[in-house]
Amino acid sequence: MNAIFRGDLARFDELLQQTADYSADFLRRMNELPVSMDVPAFAEAHLPEKGMGGTAALELFDNRFGAFLTASAGPRYFGFVTGGVTPAALAGDWLASAIDMNAADKSSLAFSLEKETLQLLRQLFSLPEAFEGVFVSGATMSNFTGLAAARQWLGLQQGINVAEQGTSALQNVKVLAATPHSSVVKALSMLGMGRNSLVTLPTLPGREAVDVKALEQWIADNPGTPFIYVAAAGTVNTVDFDDIAAIAALKNKHPFWLHVDAAFGGFAAVSPRFRHFLNGWELADSITIDAHKWLNVPYDCAMMFSRHSHLQLEVFQNAGAAYLGDPAQNFNFINYAPENSRRLRALPAWFTLRAYGAEGYRDVVEQNVMQAQRLGEALERSGYFRLLAPVKMCVVCFTLNTEESKLPGHLQVFLQTLVKRGVVYVTPTVYGGVPGMRAALVNWRTTDKDTEMAIRELESAAASVAGMSAILTNN
Ligand SMILES: *Cc1c(COP(=O)(O)O)cnc(C)c1O
Repeated sequence: MNAIFRGDLARFDELLQQTADYSADFLRRMNELPVSMDVPAFAEAHLPEKGMGGTAALELFDNRFGAFLTASAGPRYFGFVTGGVTPAALAGDWLASAIDMNAADKSSLAFSLEKETLQLLRQLFSLPEAFEGVFVSGATMSNFTGLAAARQWLGLQQGINVAEQGTSALQNVKVLAATPHSSVVKALSMLGMGRNSLVTLPTLPGREAVDVKALEQWIADNPGTPFIYVAAAGTVNTVDFDDIAAIAALKNKHPFWLHVDAAFGGFAAVSPRFRHFLNGWELADSITIDAHKWLNVPYDCAMMFSRHSHLQLEVFQNAGAAYLGDPAQNFNFINYAPENSRRLRALPAWFTLRAYGAEGYRDVVEQNVMQAQRLGEALERSGYFRLLAPVKMCVVCFTLNTEESKLPGHLQVFLQTLVKRGVVYVTPTVYGGVPGMRAALVNWRTTDKDTEMAIRELESAAASVAGMSAILTNN
């Protein structure tokens, strides 16, 4: 064994302790750390001929990058849809790396642990047992996996086995949606169905949810044409939900595959107050739910639930590899999802579900929604802002209350100011043609105090934008 490996093996405990201490120090400072920062470009790195050992690498990491660690998992990072990491999820994640089981290896505990975790998740979301789940790296891959099964189904409607014959054999691929997430469109490209296969249906007035009448009309205009419908269950700007029950009811008259993108909106199912947003999702063919968002496990983790795992098997099986066994006889997750070798991604989810239970997640969801509502009300009251949409769940979509011609300029300065100050982070967006921003609250750490701090910070940043205060006084 190389001498430096030997040294690290002898001091393994010490390195783990140092890393735990370093992590604990970071986590203790989570509330004070800036949530965002302009990170400089670093000098070019050179691979050393002779290594320095783990402890020195940790020191080098701290010297080189320590000052730039930001609290993107912290309580006032409202960008994108970003969860934090619960204590138990972190413990599970560390263990997953320490154990380093390949979840593809059925001779290990990994398989049973994944199965058990998927059972717990199905119960968390009250999904029927007919749904089989798989773990993937994120909602993008989950949408990809669900749409791959949908593509297989679409082919079979035309007498084509796409997994064998390829997408070129497919004709007239139509994927309908009203407000699909960009990752759905990306998946269409990756799956060879093409971005142009997307038919964008109109939404209800002032909403991001589909106008179901338009879907009915499309069906009437295209009698008997099998298609894929991707339902939005929580859009990123306004957390709007398609009327999934009404859409699912159309399946009785017309063949289509219903995929539900519930990346974070799926967590409406954990609270009786919001469950109705998902009415009918139990009739879907496939469902996407992210774990690294509202479940608050570390990146990267998501699930895809489907009623048609046999179609996944047709797409993803490792055929003809003797050492993997017959995919049809010997169930293994590697034949149902894109990846083969995989980390034990289920373990952080298992830990956090066992540690906090259904009640814990109900509380996180209900508190985050209440905080988002309070944030929305306060922003509108302040006079500096106006809401671009009512606050439906955990996202506040808003903009500066300046005159239209000055809005893009003011918004840019405002967002730059926020990043520099690092107290609260939001992401820019455009909603209904109006430039604005969105704050997504899906972190277990966020308290009412954080929400109040965020309100003060947003008002104070708005007041500092040149011209804003003048406009307010003129009003
Ligand atoms: C976040 C999100 C995705 C993509 O998820 P990743 O985890 O970033 O791959 C897809 N759909 C919706 C609705 C999302 O919010």
